[in-house]
Amino acid sequence: MDLWHIPAIDQHAHPVLKPDATMPFAAAFTEGHDPILVERFARQTLFYRRSLHDLAMLLECDATEEAIVARRGELGPETLTERCLGAARLETMLLDDGYLAEQSQPLAWHRRFVPVRRLLRLETLAEDLLATSERFQDFDDRLRAALDPPPADVVAFKSIAAYRCGLRDAVTASTEHVECWFNRIPRQNRLRLTDAGVIHHVLRHALEAAARHGLPIQFHAGFGDADLDLRDANPLHLRPLLELPACRQVPIVLLHNYPFVREAGYLASVYPRVYADFGLAVPFLSVGGMKSVVAQLLELAPTGKVLYSSDAHFIPELFYLGAKWGRLILGETLENAVDDGDLTAREADQVAAAILCDNARVLYRL
Ligand SMILES: [Zn+2]
Repeated sequence: MDLWHIPAIDQHAHPVLKPDATMPFAAAFTEGHDPILVERFARQTLFYRRSLHDLAMLLECDATEEAIVARRGELGPETLTERCLGAARLETMLLDDGYLAEQSQPLAWHRRFVPVRRLLRLETLAEDLLATSERFQDFDDRLRAALDPPPADVVAFKSIAAYRCGLRDAVTASTEHVECWFNRIPRQNRLRLTDAGVIHHVLRHALEAAARHGLPIQFHAGFGDADLDLRDANPLHLRPLLELPACRQVPIVLLHNYPFVREAGYLASVYPRVYADFGLAVPFLSVGGMKSVVAQLLELAPTGKVLYSSDAHFIPELFYLGAKWGRLILGETLENAVDDGDLTAREADQVAAAILCDNARVLYRL
């Protein structure tokens, strides 16, 4: 099935870096940050090798890193981004601007190319407020005020608890613990928030605000870069949170999920407000890996709960690669479903539109 006629909503990605940010091109193709890994091994993945050919076609140059980097320089950041986002055929993109904010282009810059809505990263907000609050009560009041009501262009909250403390026991928050912690920490410098109790306290406020304003919360789950402990990033750990009465009103969106894709599909199949996407796995895996991820998610998850995203970051090319392979792999998976007798051809068309854009449009009220 050719799905290029369907404009996609990229429901989770990040701003691209400013032109003066120094980052080797290959660094955008690995979740590893170690310089040895970036220098010696990032170019050895099937994803990277395949992408050279994809980008050579898009940018009209040879399929080598040198030629692509030279071509990027010729085009300049605006023309390059316009070409990548235009080719991705996006209706809207939702950007989490809490990652490397200083080094990234502002959301307004991206709006020149595609309509953008904002994802508010909870842990970064809490870090900003911790750095500038003298007393615990100030911090807590400002946190509530920042979430409720949410800023005007925010369509969802996003949590990186998986990176900071893992997804286990995300409901154990006592205000006393947070206050004690607050009074202990030195606040001369901005800190990196990793305390599970504090993160759960922030999540509790976010759940209340999200329930009141009908906002979803996105959770990073599964793989990511190396400061994540994959053992604690299995979305099944979210069960205690999903059992909370507040979660009957708040849609929870499980991002990425690899390799816990079946687990995410299971949660989407038993909790009415749980959704799952296959971003990052598509386009970061081999073609075989991407096929199995999308197929595994659709083994069990209701099709109205599956969403498209790229998790693009750093460079605009990743928006295009996500959109290209998202459509190709989804098209092939649905074709197989028709061959297998799971879906009629007409149903497959509807499911494709649902996953690429309709589900997100309804969920985020776009
Ligand atoms: Zn992300």
